[in-house]
Amino acid sequence: MGIIRNIVAHLTVIRQSLVRNHHKIIMSRQLHASRTEGVDKNVWVEFTQLAADYKAVNLGQGFPDFSPPKFVQEAFCKAVNGGPLMHQYTRAFGHPPLVKNLAKFFSRIVGHEINPFEDILVTVGAYQALFCAFQALVNEGDEVIIVEPFFDCYQPMVKMVGGKAVYVPLRPKAEGKAVLSSGDWVLSAEELASKFTPRTKAIVINTPNNPLGKVYKTEELQMIADLCIKHDVLCISDEVYEWLTYDGTKHVKIASLPGMWERTITVGSGGKTFSATGWKVGWAISSGHIMKHMKTIHQNTVYHCATAAQEAVAQGFEREYELFGTPESYFQQLPAMLHHKRKKLASCLESVGLQPIMPEGGYFMITDISSVKVDYNDQSSKDEPNDFKFVKWLTKEKGLATIPVSAFYSPEHSKEFDKYIRFCFVKEDATLDAAEDILRKWSQGQ
Ligand code: PMP
Ligand code: GLN
Repeated sequence: MGIIRNIVAHLTVIRQSLVRNHHKIIMSRQLHASRTEGVDKNVWVEFTQLAADYKAVNLGQGFPDFSPPKFVQEAFCKAVNGGPLMHQYTRAFGHPPLVKNLAKFFSRIVGHEINPFEDILVTVGAYQALFCAFQALVNEGDEVIIVEPFFDCYQPMVKMVGGKAVYVPLRPKAEGKAVLSSGDWVLSAEELASKFTPRTKAIVINTPNNPLGKVYKTEELQMIADLCIKHDVLCISDEVYEWLTYDGTKHVKIASLPGMWERTITVGSGGKTFSATGWKVGWAISSGHIMKHMKTIHQNTVYHCATAAQEAVAQGFEREYELFGTPESYFQQLPAMLHHKRKKLASCLESVGLQPIMPEGGYFMITDISSVKVDYNDQSSKDEPNDFKFVKWLTKEKGLATIPVSAFYSPEHSKEFDKYIRFCFVKEDATLDAAEDILRKWSQGQ
């Protein structure tokens, strides 16, 4: 069965490539703009296709394979059936009920009165909030500090505006010792301070972090905040997994620290918040004097995102505002559910001899694969990083899709970290069981 599946997948790839080449148009001058150079590869495009081609059990791309909660599904249906205006343009910078509910909800958390019409921009997912931030705030030649491992789109977005990405890695606390938790990965204050120069315009942080699951502690955020204030630098804080923390770990917003509201852009995602990644509703929250520039980019690019989806997310926040802190709140129920899935995946990895690094937050878990010996027997991939080779092999030969962790590193540092792969656990128990079955059989040599 496995061999036939592989042959069919290979034939599909060959057919797709023939069709593509048939349509190629030859021009005598350079067709592409230079900004597209060096950013053409994308880990999600590549590995999501690979998982589909091989019909693999998918613990790769980060999306729930279960439905969003009933209350937001019903809100979406109600919006779609809610009359003609739900199908038309709404306010460019965010559907009024959504910006009002986001402002009400997050004012309480940030400890700052957020103005719904000045301080919030609703975007096409967190991706577009990040895009607007880089486009609106970073000039050619500006430096942007990125903490590694980082969600991969930060680097091309900085590059496409002509900025220079400057990297600083989180490192395992005690080199050589077993690293058991994402909390063991820390930023060196000296190393970070050394990256700030007069050209530094912004720093990008991601808490809870994808792929590691690190949730920054208040002291760590304070150290970053002090540097931002000292060097007059902006902070782009990607907090799409803000509700997903475990074992009593608390997510802290850097925008809530003294002196940071005025210089922080906080990015959020309705897709991650309500387990509906396909809706592509995201937002940026910041002081109006920053937001007005992001709005300029937004109004001249996408203008706004789907009205009905915004209405549904607005209803979701309305409900969560009322239930905040109670056991009925989805922001309590989702992490409670994921707590079990995290444990299930960790035990599965341990049972086949892989040491998981327990995430404090988010829905990913990484593990060190350096002890696993595989004969790839494939010359075409010999220059690829080890984790890329391994993930491809695992997908094609064993039918289990994961993501190589070096994709979350700069070329300078990726070699140091190509011994890790990432598993996503926001999946049905049946999917996690299927993955466990594959790993167990493999470890038993079947
Ligand atoms: N930031 C991080 C850290 C992510 O993992 C993702 C992927 N969901 C995004 C941003 C983009 O989110 P969205 O799907 O809302 O565009
Ligand atoms: N954020 C998702 C992840 O980390 C994927 C995003 C995407 O597919 N572009 O898996």
